[in-house]
Amino acid sequence: MTEDLERIGKDLSDRVGREHVFTDRPTALAYARDTMPWDVEDHHMPYAVVRPGNTEDVSAVLRYASERAIPVHTHGSGTSLVGLGRPKTNAIVLDTGRMQDLAIYPERGYFEVGPGMHIGKLRQALAPHKALLPVFPGSEPVATIGGSIAVNTSAHAVDATLCKPGDYVLGLEVVLPDGQILNTGTESTRKPAGIEATKFLVGSEGLLCVITRIRMRLIPLPRTANIVAYYKRTEDILDVVMAMYRQGLPTPLFFEYLDETSSRIGFEAVGLAPPVGAVAMMSMGSATPEGCRAKAELFLDFLAGGNPIEAHIVEDNDEWGKIWSSRAEAGNYCYRRGSTFGSEVTPRVDCLKTAFLETRDVILNLDSYQGNEFYSFGHIGAPTIHGYAFIPSKDIPNEVKQAITLEVREKTEAINVKYGGCGGEWGLTAQRAGFLQKKYGPVYYDFLMKLKKTFDPNNILNRGNLEGWL
Ligand SMILES: Cc1cc2nc3c(=O)[nH]c(=O)nc-3n(C[C@H](O)[C@H](O)[C@H](O)COP(=O)(O)OP(=O)(O)OC[C@H]3O[C@@H](n4cnc5c(N)ncnc54)[C@H](O)[C@@H]3O)c2cc1C
Repeated sequence: MTEDLERIGKDLSDRVGREHVFTDRPTALAYARDTMPWDVEDHHMPYAVVRPGNTEDVSAVLRYASERAIPVHTHGSGTSLVGLGRPKTNAIVLDTGRMQDLAIYPERGYFEVGPGMHIGKLRQALAPHKALLPVFPGSEPVATIGGSIAVNTSAHAVDATLCKPGDYVLGLEVVLPDGQILNTGTESTRKPAGIEATKFLVGSEGLLCVITRIRMRLIPLPRTANIVAYYKRTEDILDVVMAMYRQGLPTPLFFEYLDETSSRIGFEAVGLAPPVGAVAMMSMGSATPEGCRAKAELFLDFLAGGNPIEAHIVEDNDEWGKIWSSRAEAGNYCYRRGSTFGSEVTPRVDCLKTAFLETRDVILNLDSYQGNEFYSFGHIGAPTIHGYAFIPSKDIPNEVKQAITLEVREKTEAINVKYGGCGGEWGLTAQRAGFLQKKYGPVYYDFLMKLKKTFDPNNILNRGNLEGWL
């Protein structure tokens, strides 16, 4: 490390209070780690971890860092799956966890929240107002609203039904890299038209600013009717999704699938009898129970044309709870049992089946490892294919893990390029800098670099992410 840690610790303490600054090695290690399946190296270690309590604190930290050209990495909960959560260079890590103020204004049609509030807690707080939070990651209990808006991920929801969380953001308060505070957007429920800064900052992955307050529309919470459908093969579900778009059917709020392997794992994990093949689950949303029922029946009629083994509306909430959680449990089980190497393929919808078959083929025929298993699940109605290489062991050398990760990433991203996809969650930089160049070419990448330079001339924020990592 090149910086004087004691000096940085003292300077930051003077700005935000000693109890909110940490320079000890165990804390630094905890913030250097993320979900990536390889080891922390010395250049990932923070100089200091700082936990600001408000916007003025964030501003003071950034002004300090900017004057000394010290990198700053913003940390929500660090649950990003593609390396966004790990500092790429020694940096001050700015943890937003204390910034959890929430004000709900039903009479204005919006709420305002600090970036550090966990999604699950925010959803609970909105429940008495019958408001929907349009963000559904599997990491809901711990992921922050700031991290989710910085990535602009709606996660499980079908985009054609619910769009992205950024579409509901009315305005932001952010701190720019030099410490200036900027307010964007509107207090009206009418969103601004035309060129407007909120649009650049939502989804900017911590590269352009630190988000310190988010104003979001209160969306009426829909009622839902839930459907489960069993199929012999995953391919049958892919046919259904392609037909749904081709025929212009109203899309469900959620449309998830488990392939033949993960359905067995997931169902067993929640105490349900293992199904014979692949499973699809959908939630239809509407304002009234009658509306939900009508939509679900219409959708069941449509499903009947696609040769399911069986499909029905799930009336029992406990049964639905188990079916729904089997999706998350399949992933959890594999994480516990061994090593998983994931991908995110989001092809043009008319190429969904071809893209799936190519993804499976690539993952079952890796050069970097022989004998891995394949399983897949995901938000197929979106459409997102998560294809995973699974090895039932955690004892794999670091360099082999890196090689598998790189090979899975490169080959599945080539499928995205081939079939017009880009990735609909998890964010676009960190792991995907190479992909951006392949998909869009040098002009686009150069544009992103110039955008970054305009906001952050000294490259203070999340240094290393846009440059690409491994
Ligand atoms: C079990 C599990 C399931 C998951 N499921 C999904 C899923 O279904 N879909 C999905 O998209 N993701 C999923 N994720 C990934 C991750 O949880 C989400 O992307 C989440 O939105 C990240 O939130 P976070 O608070 O952990 O952000 P972090 O990982 O801390 O940060 C993510 C990025 O945002 C930046 N950032 C964070 N806060 C701010 C801020 N206030 N201002 C500016 N930049 C900021 C960071 O610098 C970083 O670049 C999952 C992760 C796990 C572990």
